[in-house]
Formats: sequence, structure tokens, C-alpha cells
Amino acid sequence: MDHFEPKNGELYAENVPLARIAEEVGTPVYVYSRATLERHARVFREALDGVPRKHIAFAVKSNPNLAVLRVLGRQGYGADVVSGGEMRRALAAGIPAAEIVFSGVGKTAREMADALDARIGQFNVESEEEGLELAAIAEDKGLTAACALRVNPDIDAGTHEKISTGKADNKFGVPYDLATGIYDRLSRLPSLQMRGLAVHIGSQLADLAPLEQAFEKVGALLATLRASGHEVTHVDLGGGLGVPYKAGEVLPSPAEYGAMVARVTQGWNVELMFEPGRVIAGNAGVLLTRVIRVKRNGNRPPFVVVDAAMNDLARPALYGAWHDFDAVRPTGERMTAHIVGPICETGDTFARDRECDALKAGDLAVFRTAGAYGATMASSYNSRGFVPEVLVDGDRYAVVADRIPPEEIYAAERVPEWLG
Ligand SMILES: *Cc1c(COP(=O)(O)O)cnc(C)c1O
Repeated sequence: MDHFEPKNGELYAENVPLARIAEEVGTPVYVYSRATLERHARVFREALDGVPRKHIAFAVKSNPNLAVLRVLGRQGYGADVVSGGEMRRALAAGIPAAEIVFSGVGKTAREMADALDARIGQFNVESEEEGLELAAIAEDKGLTAACALRVNPDIDAGTHEKISTGKADNKFGVPYDLATGIYDRLSRLPSLQMRGLAVHIGSQLADLAPLEQAFEKVGALLATLRASGHEVTHVDLGGGLGVPYKAGEVLPSPAEYGAMVARVTQGWNVELMFEPGRVIAGNAGVLLTRVIRVKRNGNRPPFVVVDAAMNDLARPALYGAWHDFDAVRPTGERMTAHIVGPICETGDTFARDRECDALKAGDLAVFRTAGAYGATMASSYNSRGFVPEVLVDGDRYAVVADRIPPEEIYAAERVPEWLG
């Protein structure tokens, strides 16, 4: 459930008419709902009531806006980060270092050193090579790095191949059958405190079965490690729970996920860690856009050209993803159209042959479920600048990220003198 609903015939974000935000901030603009973020954070936590000890870290890559991180930090969420930049954002948003988990296959020496200096809570080590390098850096500093070893369970998550992470030929984690050997060797390094395992098999999962299989494999590994004398106190189960992108679509609920987790992990006697991203932020945001013009196309469906584009919301171009598209002031009439942005590339298509509210030039519309993997994936392709972000809270709102015009982007560019 979200808080983007029609009242008196027009779409609101909580108690603020979207038309007002469009008027005052301009379009395109991302609009987030604080009440929705908080509701999702609460629902996900309550779904894990059956898990005695847990730590929930919001996957920052899904929506790294500082205000969003602050909202979730105040809900007691930590942060799962995958770069030094994300770590600095989480800290800047007030998330305590101890609540930060650092994942990712390409942590640089610099990033690991900074994370050690910041005293983050846990490194999810993705290879033996990384573990050795982290150990050396920590030893130099006279510090100990708390670590979980990320294993690749070789399970097909059944999601889009670009966001599948748990198959043997994906770059993530260590091969399952090599995990005990690697864990053994890394455990002998005094500057690493090997304390657990981590797994994350992909995103937008529509089925709990692959997750359950992955967790069972982790449970088996946990038993093996303990049998050979390792103390394992933490298991990070990652994120990945999908959200409905189409009205009426039904996905596994957080409650079903929580019940499965409680069942599979019963008796593990560890602190369980979670890294949800999309399920918290996805339905808490929309991309508000204005129709530039409707271009007729003979007797084929017309092109509705909106002022948002693939650089603002990349998911349709990148993954063929579906976003529901609704008029802010629907007339009740419907049309079938191709929804496209202004970018000079055919990939800049949000939807083809979409049955949607009838729209004409100047009308406002939203792409729904744009709160996760939306603004965070933006680029400035076609020199379009970056879209602003707004957070709504009841009947007030604030601009939580300014629009960045192309001038500010090319201000960082230089023409060398010798070009004349
Ligand atoms: C992307 C990612 C997540 C979050 O995935 P969602 O599908 O958004 O829940 C969690 N953990 C890791 C390691 C990730 O890379």
C-alpha cells in the first residue's frame, strides 16, 4: 500500500496535490512519501517478529537520498552500502557507523581503509583475495575487521538476468564448495574477525522458493563451519524481495517472507541480518512528469512524449521494466499509446501499446513505483541534468535534492588552453 491516491479527482502524495508540486518545483520530479517509507519499514520489521535477533540494513543503492536515509535511520534501520560514496552518505544521514554493512565485489584498498577508519559494523567479503587485502589494511591500522563471507549458492533467482546475483557464473560471493576452505584460511588472520556468512541472490524476486533454497544451503554451511570449530554468530540474508509494479499484481508479502525465514532459520542461533531495498522504497516514490506533446502516428498508436526520459528513470530501457503510468487528473477517457521521452534513442521508451488514461499536451502524469532504482540510476545523457527529489510528509513537502542543470555539470569540464 502507498500514499499516492486520488482525492476529488486528482492524484495526491499524502495530503499534497501532485499538481502543486509540479507547479512549484517543475517537472520531471521524483516525489517520495514519508508515510509510505515508514509504513514499509514497519511492515518489514513486523514480518520478522518470529526472528529473535535481527539487524535490518536498508540497501542504500536503491535510494540513497539523504532525507530518505534519515527517515529510515529514524526507524532503526542501518545501511547496506556498496561503495565509499554510499558509506559517506549513510554517515552523513546520521546512520551510526556500527549499523553499516559494506558489500560489493570491488571494494578498493582506499574504500576498505576509509570504512575501517569509520569503524563500520561489518564487511561482507566477496573473495579470498579481498579478505587478504582487508586483513593487511586492518593489521596496518592495528584494527580488527568484523566480516561475513558472502557465498554464491548457485541458485537461479528467476529474476531478470541483469539483477540476478546468486548463480555460479555471477560475479558475487565465493563459490559454494570453496566456502569452507576460504572461511578457514581467512579465520586464521588475526586482523579479521570472521563471524558469519552472507548471501544475496538477486532483486525483484517474485517467488520465495529460490530464496528458501539459498537459505537452506547457507544453513548447511553454517553447520559445517560450526562442526569444524568456527564460532558463527551472524548470518546476512541479503535483500531481494520483489514489489508489484502493475496494479493487481501479487507478490510474496513481507509476512510470507518473514514466516519462511523464521521456519528455515529456526535453531540457527545467530543474529540475522537483512538488506531490503526495493521492498522499502519502491512503492514510496513516483516520477512526476508533464506531457510535452502527443505525436500522431497514422493509424498506429500515438506517441505520448513526456518530459521525463530514460536518463531520469532507466529501468524500462535497462530491464524492459514496467511502470504503471497514470494521469494526475484523469478524465475517465482512455487511450492506447507509446509512452516515450525526448532522448534521441529508441531505447527511450517507457511503454509500448500501453492502455492508459487519455492525455494531451500539458497534462501531468506519474510513473509509479519509482522510489527504488529510480533517481539513483539517473545520468545526464543528452545533457538533460538531474531531476530534483521531493519528500512529502502529511500536508507539507520539501525539496530534498535540487535540480542540477547541465551548466552545473559542465562546470566541472575544462577546455585546455592549447585548444585555443
Ligand atoms: C542490491 C542489493 C540489495 C538490495 O536488493 P533489493 O532487491 O533492493 O532488496 C541487498 N544486498 C545486496 C548485497 C545488494 O547488492
